[in-house]
Amino acid sequence: MMRSMAERLPENLQEKIADRLSYYKDIGIQLFYKDRHAEGPQVIAPTEESSATRSLQTNSSRETSLPRPPRRPELPKFPPSVQRPPAKLDLLPRPSAPSLFEAANRIIDDTLPKIRADIGDCTRCKLHKGRTNIVFGDGSPKAELVFVGEGPGADEDAQGLPFVGRAGKLLTQMIEAMGLQRKDVYICNVVKCRPPENRTPEKDEVTTCSSFLLRQLEVISPKVIVCLGSVAAQTLLETNRGISHYRGEWLDFHGRKLLATYHPAYLLRNPSAKGEVWSDLKKVMVALGLQVKKGKSY
Ligand code: URA
Repeated sequence: MMRSMAERLPENLQEKIADRLSYYKDIGIQLFYKDRHAEGPQVIAPTEESSATRSLQTNSSRETSLPRPPRRPELPKFPPSVQRPPAKLDLLPRPSAPSLFEAANRIIDDTLPKIRADIGDCTRCKLHKGRTNIVFGDGSPKAELVFVGEGPGADEDAQGLPFVGRAGKLLTQMIEAMGLQRKDVYICNVVKCRPPENRTPEKDEVTTCSSFLLRQLEVISPKVIVCLGSVAAQTLLETNRGISHYRGEWLDFHGRKLLATYHPAYLLRNPSAKGEVWSDLKKVMVALGLQVKKGKSY
């Protein structure tokens, strides 16, 4: 007797798919998947991808009934200096419907000033009501390393700069312990306006603002993206999965290396987690060819 598709998938894959479906449900996308088992077996063309990824993508590409975004022009090939990370970085399932990011149109000759100009005096979401300043981002537009946080707090809102409060001071210490300065890296957030009472940004706020984050990342084109905390990680990885499942692992974000680690504000409350974050940052240093000195920390 033929087993159902759910029975045919390994448990960890089932869990990943369940996460993904619940994420789509949260953002209002439902009923894009149906088990076509009754229609008979499908021929899966062999590819170089893992069988898990292949079965996910093959089934989903046939069973997605969402409208497809218009075809985008081919992405430029990776310059020789930027090595495409190995496929095994892609530890999380790829979305089976157009991602928020892939749906966004690529802007030719984009620059950080253009993105800032497009944000303008933004009123696209309700966060604009409580803000003093839009906190766009800060640092080198050519940075090899980008830190992505959650959203501005009170100090950032007052100054219009990311990570300048207590958590920001700790982030600065972390950057300096890596042998870098703030001006060498780029620091930005998922949402550019302070959520009231520093609450977690809501889905609609994240969705509205994340196209600007994507453009920032495209323009800067860093070798490594470090997500600080679960909001940044879940946004860029498009997952509901808690950060503890993949903290410190190399993951893929549109062909770039992404690593998620704990937010500095979490470290202020839980200093015992500093060691884990330092070991994550040491991995980043190795990836960037920075010297890791024994015994050094922040
Ligand atoms: N926390 C963040 O996530 N971002 C900031 O800019 C400041 C604190």
